[in-house]
This record gives sequence, C-alpha cells and structure tokens, in this order.
Amino acid sequence: MNYDKKTIRDIDVSGKKILLRCDFNVPHDKKTGVIHDDTRIVATLPTIRYLLEHGAAVILTSHMGRPHGVWKQENSLFSARDHLEKLLGIPVPMTTDVLGPDTKAKCAALQPGQVLLIENLRFRVEEEKNDPDFAKELASLADIFVFDAFGCAHRAHASTAGVADYLPAVAGFLVEKELAFMGKALEAPQRPLVAILGGAKVSDKIGVINSLLQKADTIIIGGGMAYTFQVAMGGKIGTSLLDEEHIDYARDMIAKAKELGVKLLLPVDTVVTKEFAADAESSLVPAKAIPDDRMGMDIGPETIQLFSDAIRGAGTVIWNGPMGVFEFPAFAKGTNAVAEALAGLENAVTIVGGGDSVSAVEKTGFSSKISHISTGGGASLEFLEGLVLPGIACLADR
Ligand code: AMP
Repeated sequence: MNYDKKTIRDIDVSGKKILLRCDFNVPHDKKTGVIHDDTRIVATLPTIRYLLEHGAAVILTSHMGRPHGVWKQENSLFSARDHLEKLLGIPVPMTTDVLGPDTKAKCAALQPGQVLLIENLRFRVEEEKNDPDFAKELASLADIFVFDAFGCAHRAHASTAGVADYLPAVAGFLVEKELAFMGKALEAPQRPLVAILGGAKVSDKIGVINSLLQKADTIIIGGGMAYTFQVAMGGKIGTSLLDEEHIDYARDMIAKAKELGVKLLLPVDTVVTKEFAADAESSLVPAKAIPDDRMGMDIGPETIQLFSDAIRGAGTVIWNGPMGVFEFPAFAKGTNAVAEALAGLENAVTIVGGGDSVSAVEKTGFSSKISHISTGGGASLEFLEGLVLPGIACLADR
C-alpha cells in the first residue's frame, strides 16, 4: 500500500465544501453523555481549524457505537458536538437526521468558515454496508472528501471509503501523521527496529507477528500471549492464559524467527497468583516453570531488565499490548517499565498503537515522551500486518 497520500495542504480548499470524516466515537456515559476521554476529538482539531482558516465550509461526519441502523439516544453524537463546540469556540450545529431534509438544507446553507455535524451515520444501515447510493448521496453534499478518522481506516464503509468514488479524496493531518510514523516504521525504519507485542490473545496478533518477522530486528513478546509461546517451547504455565489452537503457530514463529535471524525475546520470570484478583497474593517463578495452581499476571524483574536492555539500543520501537494485567496496579509493573524504557529513549522513534497499550501508557504519565501514539486500535494492528486499509487506499496518491 502506498502511504504517500495527498493531504489538505496539497489542494485548494478555499470556498469549497469539505466532507470531513472524523472519529468522534469517544468513550462516554450512556445516560449523561459525559465524555471520559476526548483524545479522538482533540486529535482532529488541527484539520478542522486549518480548513476553516483557509475558507472552507466543513461538514463533519462520524459514527458513535454500533446502533446498526436503529436510532438510539445513547448513540447520538450530541455530547461530542457539545464538547467540540467548547474546543473550537464556535457554534457547531448538528443535523436532526442522516441525509434527510434537515441534513440537505443545513449543508446547502453552510458558508465558508462554518462547521456542521451530521448525526451518527450508523443510524442508517447503508453506512456500514457501504451502499453506493448512500455514498453518492453523502458525496453530493460536498466538493472534496477529507479522511481524518484513522481509527476507522480498516472499515470499508460509505463514509470512510465509498464517498471517495464520487469526490476527490485527501488525508487530514491526523491521518497524515499516522501514515508518516507508521508507514516509515514499516518501510524504512531507523534500525534496529524493536517490536513489542503483548495483550491477551495470540489470535489477534498472528498477522502482526508474521508481518513483523519480515521487518523487525527484535520481537519482544509479553503479556497473556507469551504463555502460549512458553508451552510451544515445552514450558509449564499452570493456569495462565493459553491459546491452545495456536501452540503450533507459536512454535512455527519461533522457528521462523531463528531462520530469519530475528531476535525473539520471551519472559524469563513471571509474577504469579492463585486467583485473578487485584489484591491476590503474588510470588515470582521462572516463566517456563509456573506451578500447576498458579497463573501468570505480569512479567518479573529479570524480564523487565531483559526487555529494557533490548529497548535501550533501538532506533525504532513499535509497541502494541500490555505486558501484564495492568488494570490491577499490583500487576502493572512490567507494562509501566516498558513505557518508561520507551520514554527514556533519546534518539529513537517510539510508536504505541492499540487501545489498551495507549491507556496503559497514559496511566504511566509517559505519553508526552512517546513520538507517536496511534489513534487506531484495530486499524493500527491491520496497518502493522501490512493489510490494505480501505480508508487509506481510497485517498489520492501524492
Ligand atoms: P489486547 O486487547 O489483546 O491487547 O489485551 C489486553 C488485555 O490483556 C488487558 O486487558 C490485560 O489485562 C490482558 N493481559 C495482559 N497480560 C495478561 C496476563 N498475563 N493474563 C491475563 N490477561 C492479561
């Protein structure tokens, strides 16, 4: 996939109506609408501001949750709109329908320097089906399509890809930054390239491991997925997470890493407990000899040292997935230590992708020291897998 896409800087937006796909699908209280994390809204502000300052009229679109074509108050974008109004300091009117008479009238009346938000597109089933008539109607509201919803780039929906069949399509600044960091990390990384993978399931990361084996110099595997690799090497993991279906796959990956000369690092010691609880009593055991009645909850100090040493020499680090059950403070030490190791790198490019790793890094307070925190969970994983992302592929090449 070509990552060098035209952006709003490459075109004349003055006097044009822009259909700007954002990702305002923010975590919020379903009853009160209070937003818990506005990262995705804030991330799109530079694009919105640039377009307004350059004389464009901006029609914003987004989804919120998964209403599957059913109109539900909890999926309305009204709280995102209220928040955006505060951030922008100008009124952000919103439509009361999706591509109905209200949308059409408000879009037609929109003037340069003004912004408008269309209600949750997923209130219409045609959106997720990428219905061509729906996409065409959406496109008819504007002159140019701008894509800035990186978190939805792996979806081929009407508003993320379909509209590009009918309008010139370019990237917003958020997408430009994602492509610059992640594209470069995959295509021409500053070496050595160290990839750190964690989280619960091996199955979620199969494609990523496969793809990174071709590109990385070192792959570090921690978190719940590491136990399947331990079993593949003949280790004992007690009651720890095991993805039985993927033991053979893990064995193949270990062999492939050897063949390709990629260093594959696994935990050497593990913090274990008897039960899965925040206050469970813990002890430290070798990673390949976990007692039958214990489960692994975090990487141990020797592993932290091993992983931190590997990170210290890196030119580029890509991290996806926590090293342990970081939601429980007692078992967040490994994840925090990895975040700290990344934050301590002076001349390296550090990239954190995926929902849980992002919240883990934010909890540690090191996020300002990371070069790039991706706004896409599933999208950044698919990006790392080297898959074609419909929301990116449909944009004009530079
Ligand atoms: P993922 O969505 O695959 O990135 O997984 C994130 C989840 O993995 C988090 O909720 C962690 O609590 C969980 N996790 C990480 N390490 C472990 C472990 N050793 N045992 C159980 N769950 C884990």
